[in-house]
Amino acid sequence: MVANTERTDPDYKIGKALFSEKEIGDRVQLLANKIVSEMSGRDLLVVGILNGAVIFLSDLVRRMPAEFNVKIDFMSISSYGNAAKSSGVVRILKDIGSDIEGRDVLVVEDIIDTGLTLSYLLNIMYTRKPAHLRTCVLLDKQEKREVAVKVDYCGFVIPDVFVVGYGLDYGGKWRHLPDIRAVDF
Ligand code: 5GP
Repeated sequence: MVANTERTDPDYKIGKALFSEKEIGDRVQLLANKIVSEMSGRDLLVVGILNGAVIFLSDLVRRMPAEFNVKIDFMSISSYGNAAKSSGVVRILKDIGSDIEGRDVLVVEDIIDTGLTLSYLLNIMYTRKPAHLRTCVLLDKQEKREVAVKVDYCGFVIPDVFVVGYGLDYGGKWRHLPDIRAVDF
């Protein structure tokens, strides 16, 4: 008889919530208020980085008032690194459809770790000559930073743990969770 060598136990599991749905909602509301108060009277183009930022961006813009002039676009990138270590060199899989020259742009990202990905992306965006380029990240692993990146709006600073939920995945899973959880490897 051939022994069954297939693993039946998962080698990882998701832990308890780091941030609940309510905590995230409250924080997203504060971020939206701050962005609107600092950019009122101007037209804002919000650029979400797919796929991770899609849920955060959707909640963020829906907390902005009707009279605030906001447009939305998306960019899809793939990093040349792997899940554990980002190389910082990104390939644009889908570019924004808007010309950003002379415009106020807010790049929305799910999480910043070493900073390499966002830094590379911002350098590309700067060459397109926006009037202002700001960044908004939901989660910031500040202690992991390798390159300086200007984070204008930040949801939560977190320790060096791998998190999923609220748009963030592990191997494509768990983006749909309403809260943010750490993965126990
Ligand atoms: P950086 O270039 O700043 O090191 O990496 C940023 C990217 O790494 C994020 O956009 C995200 O795709 C991925 N990443 C970094 N930390 C985590 C994490 O804890 N959870 C998940 N799901 N992705 C992460």
